[in-house]
Amino acid sequence: MDAFGQARWYVVRPASNTKPSTYRCPLCGELLPALSAHMLVVPEGDPKRRRHAHTRCVVQARRAGRLPLREDVEPRRPGALRRLLGRLRRR
Ligand SMILES: [Zn+2]
Repeated sequence: MDAFGQARWYVVRPASNTKPSTYRCPLCGELLPALSAHMLVVPEGDPKRRRHAHTRCVVQARRAGRLPLREDVEPRRPGALRRLLGRLRRR
């Protein structure tokens, strides 16, 4: 895979089809007509690197753990109260 596969996490959302273009799915390498329902995969939230992918490829990659989402990689920081309690416990 190219730089697309190097990202630490991805944003995945349904694509809204505006142009009748044809894309190449980065997950299987096959062609993808833009007017069919499919997904947009955005490496590290960078819109310049976004790719159009087959929905089934996205589902398969997610199941195989090859398409981590941001919340998988960067768990949300504990809230202020949790941090305060943790600090008190450590004393
Ligand atoms: Zn595909």
